[in-house]
Parts: sequence; structure tokens; C-alpha cells
Amino acid sequence: MPVWDDLVGQERVAAQLDAAARDADALVTATATKAPLPEASKMTHAWLFTGPPGAGRATAARAFAAALQCVSPDRALGGGPGCGFCDGCHTSLVGTHADVEIVRTDLLSIGVKETRELVRRAQLSPAVGRWQVIVLEDADRLTEGAGNVLLKAVEEPAPRTVWLLCAPSLEDVLPTIRSRCRHLTLRTPAVDAVADMLVRRDGIEPAVAAEAARATQGHIDRARRLATDPRARARRAAVLKLPLRVDDIGGCLKAAQELIDTAAEDTKQLAEEVDTKETEELKAALGGQSGSRMPRGTAGAMKDLEDRQKRRRTRTQRDSLDLALTDLTGFYRDVLALQLGSRVALANTDAQDTLERLARAASPEATLRRIEAIAECRDALDRNVAPLLAVEAMTMALRAG
Ligand SMILES: [Zn+2]
Repeated sequence: MPVWDDLVGQERVAAQLDAAARDADALVTATATKAPLPEASKMTHAWLFTGPPGAGRATAARAFAAALQCVSPDRALGGGPGCGFCDGCHTSLVGTHADVEIVRTDLLSIGVKETRELVRRAQLSPAVGRWQVIVLEDADRLTEGAGNVLLKAVEEPAPRTVWLLCAPSLEDVLPTIRSRCRHLTLRTPAVDAVADMLVRRDGIEPAVAAEAARATQGHIDRARRLATDPRARARRAAVLKLPLRVDDIGGCLKAAQELIDTAAEDTKQLAEEVDTKETEELKAALGGQSGSRMPRGTAGAMKDLEDRQKRRRTRTQRDSLDLALTDLTGFYRDVLALQLGSRVALANTDAQDTLERLARAASPEATLRRIEAIAECRDALDRNVAPLLAVEAMTMALRAG
């Protein structure tokens, strides 16, 4: 059915979800007509989608949500649910269905308070749809306390509630929760499959689509962004020039500062787009007037928002840096492939000259050490080492010789 077309390169997962959606449909119909319930249903109330970033975990969860809410009269004719066009499918896919709650966070963690709210919602019967579906796109960001709150809801679900959790890997989710979920693993889609999708769905020129898919190595969202956003292309080009600029200490420090500045710029842009509007909205909701003092008793709410915005800025800065480090790692992996005469397809064919120059200038061991230095920088950032220090240590380690 059409909703599964969005699962690029995930035929096995699509087949499993299709079977479950058909059984779910049969279950709802049987209940409505008081017919005997089907036995051995492939439907279950808690699912966990794992797979590498960009493989389409959230897309798969949404497609499943749509199929669960599909009301197309044709679904009984054998095609199964998931037409993609009926009201149930369409509103689920765009995120406006009353019984599909999509939770995605731009913070580093999801806390107990928000999770309690979700659990409360999960106890309700569907308002208009066939199921109450809650998609938790970043289940790996649940704090331990939040995980324990969720556990009860997953253990004793309401009859028509379905939890769809997404996380990079099984290890990212509390063992008690993952053991109660049916697990689906998405794999990194093939570069060709991603290029194909960009042409088919987004109408991108085949040559541009192919290059974006290759450069991002099967990461669908990044490939789309690279193919459609000139700013993203400029960023990547700048990062790929970095290896040529780190030949003395001055060059290393300057390159590190630029990486940090770029991340800060991304953060500032987001803050300008979102924070100001959010603050004004909250002020208005609390009865304050622009430019005047806020009414008594509202300081707590304002402080909460400021804290949230601060955490979000930290996350944006980290994501932006992480993207640059991903591009750099891919670059040195290509250098290594050339040095070893490996036949794997290069990701950065647009920088072939630079790759060859660096491949000649160093040994494979030196290249491996550089790839390790980037990984160490990532670890340091995860441990909250000051970003500039971590990145400087990395650029110094990337230096030739
Ligand atoms: Zn439909």
C-alpha cells in the first residue's frame, strides 16, 4: 500500500507492519460487529523501531500510525489499510489526526512531567479514530524516571492504545521497556534507493539527488537537505576544506574556532526564529504586556521557558557540531579507502582531488589516528567538555605529520 512507499530500502519492516495493520483492522472490525476476535494476531500494543540515524525510524512509525487509522473503503477489498489518501491516513501523516500524538523533542531529555501527560492520554479511548497512537520519536531521550513512568503504561495498556517508540538502538531504551515492545530494525538504506526517492518524491534532478545521497551515505533527511538547501551545501564544502588547512598550529586553532562559530550561528538563527516568538506568546498568555512588568506569580513560568530555551540552544549547538564531525569522518574514511586501494564507493567524489592529495601525503595508520581523533572529540562533547577545547584538541590531532 502507498504508505509503505516512504520506507526507503526497508522491505522487511514494511511487510511486518503491513501484516500487523491488517490484523489490527480485522480486530477493530470484529469488535464493532461483535464477531469472534481473530486469533494469533500480528498486532500488538507496543513497538520499538530502531536503526541508524536517517534510516527513517520516525517515518516508519508514522506510516504505521496512518495504516492503523486508515478508513479507506477499499482496504477490505484485499489491498489492506494504508491508502495514504483517506482522511485517516492523510491527517496521521501530516500530524493533525486527533488520535495520533507525535512526540519529538528538541531537548536533550524527556522528563517525568511530560511523560505523565502522555501516559494520561494513553488511557483515553480514541476520539475519532480506530486506535489511540502515541509516537515517541526520541525514546532514547527519556530520563530514567520518565522511563519508569512509561513502563506502567506499556505494561497495562488501554485496549485501543498503541505505543510506537523510536530509538537508535536497543541499548538506548530501558531494558524493562524494550522487553515489552515488539522490535523492528531498520537498516541504512542503499545510496541508490535514497537517490531514487529524492527524484520520485521531491522532484530533485537525478544528478543532484545521486550526489546528495552519496555524500550522506544513506541518511535520508540529510540527503534531502543537502539536495535542496544551498546553505547546507556551503557548510559541507567548508568542512571538507578543513583537512587542507590544519598544517600549522595557527591553522588548527583557526579551523576549530570556525567550527564553533558556525555552530553558534546555527544556534543564534534558531533562537531568533523560535525563542522570541515563544517568549512573546507565553507573556501574552500570562497576561503581560510587551515592554511592561509581568504580573505577580508568573516568574516561575517565565523561568521554565528560559531554561527550556537554554537547553534547546545547547542541543542545537551540539547537533550542528556533530554534523560537521560526521562529514569529516566520512572524508577521512574516503582517504583511507584510497590508501588501501579498497573498491568501496567514495562518499565525497566532489572532493576527489583533495582526497587523493591527502591519501598520498600520509600513511593509512595516520589516517586511522585522525578518524580516532574525531571520535574522541565526539566523546568529549558528550561528556560536556567545553566545545572549543574539544574541537581544538581534534584539529591539532588532524595536523599533518
Ligand atoms: Zn487510508
